[in-house]
Amino acid sequence: MIDFSLSEEQKACQKLVRDFARNEIAPIAHEMDEEQRHNPEIVEKYYKIGLLHYAVPEEYGGAGLGSLEGCIIGEEVGAACAGVAACLGGNILGLTPFLIAGSPELKEELLTQHTSGPNLGAFCLTEADAGSDVAALRTTAVFEGDEYIINGCKRFITNGGVASLYSVFAKEDPELGHKGISAFMVPADTPGVSSGKKEDKMGQRATDTREVMFDNVRIPARYRLGEGLDGFKIAMMTLDDSRPGVGAAAVGIARAALEAARDYAKERVQFGKPIAAQQGIQFMLADMAMKVNAARLLCWHAAWLHDNGKKNTLESAISKCFAGDIAMEVTTDAVQILGGYGYMKEYPVEKYMRDAKLHQIFEGTNQIQRLVIARQILS
Ligand SMILES: Cc1cc2nc3c(=O)[nH]c(=O)nc-3n(C[C@H](O)[C@H](O)[C@H](O)COP(=O)(O)OP(=O)(O)OC[C@H]3O[C@@H](n4cnc5c(N)ncnc54)[C@H](O)[C@@H]3O)c2cc1C
Repeated sequence: MIDFSLSEEQKACQKLVRDFARNEIAPIAHEMDEEQRHNPEIVEKYYKIGLLHYAVPEEYGGAGLGSLEGCIIGEEVGAACAGVAACLGGNILGLTPFLIAGSPELKEELLTQHTSGPNLGAFCLTEADAGSDVAALRTTAVFEGDEYIINGCKRFITNGGVASLYSVFAKEDPELGHKGISAFMVPADTPGVSSGKKEDKMGQRATDTREVMFDNVRIPARYRLGEGLDGFKIAMMTLDDSRPGVGAAAVGIARAALEAARDYAKERVQFGKPIAAQQGIQFMLADMAMKVNAARLLCWHAAWLHDNGKKNTLESAISKCFAGDIAMEVTTDAVQILGGYGYMKEYPVEKYMRDAKLHQIFEGTNQIQRLVIARQILS
């Protein structure tokens, strides 16, 4: 039997985050976008309502929520401002390798400290010459005494300049290719860690995106993650976990665009009647609604698999890819329905369209998702 209803706790979580997103984020989304401003006050308020570290188990100071709650949260925050969703989601992404592969002792030491305040994490995988081709990364980790020394430069890191804890992927044994990659937790205040200039982005401008540099950064050997797990595997498991939530944020953008287009179509009069009375516009709105609903179900299914201990590599890639693609289509159609007004910054839909584009690029481009999907169905 399939039950699509949310539990009372999930409904309460949805209401909490929806109210927060509508009251605290949406009213200043335009301003943050214009000023390309990361907003620490939002992070602090979000921390105070108990959601910043939602995926961290309660014993380490988090809310202990699952992937499905992550989708509910991602959609609501994404609908208010996708840039803020990327910042808040970037924290969970940065912590996920730690949740997957950190020892209880290290979690007690670093994670409990992280969750004791409005601190952000960041996930440092991408490099200048290693984007889709993760195995090409050049950051090195050399074991010396009881420490690792990390050298390298990570690019396009969400929360790059504002995080206090990084998960970092580096080559411990370059001879072994992707199997030689290891994962480490690196506190941002470790000597030798620095961040570059803020990237000037097309969309999701409320997120701080930067290079992060590691120059002879010495960390204790116990900060290496994953007994018996290589870092590449940890990175791929992290992305399996995070993609449904990223897809859900894209659903949020698409939902917001659909609602804006629907409301506008009911008001805008041309040829003596609202444009919503034109079948051509109705069909566009119907297609947009179908896409939003289908994407949400795909994200929830992938998250449900994860929460029930089932492998979700295929469904996770499908959800992220489909939701990212439909967010681009739906937001483009929303701009079309608003006509010339849709192209103006005075209306929200042009921002939705710029924000949506990133969902076809980050967390593995949608071409890479198609490679993952094809590999899964062919194997
Ligand atoms: C705003 C933003 C935030 C980001 N945040 C983070 C972060 O927090 N942490 C992090 O580690 N990374 C982050 N990234 C990096 C992101 O994950 C990469 O940009 C992405 O994986 C693509 O890598 P690339 O940009 O080097 O593109 P490339 O890998 O150079 O790809 C260029 C094009 O070629 C295509 N392509 C590449 N290989 C293939 C193939 N085998 N088959 C078909 N097509 C292919 C790609 O799909 C793409 O269209 C972020 C990026 C952006 C823009």
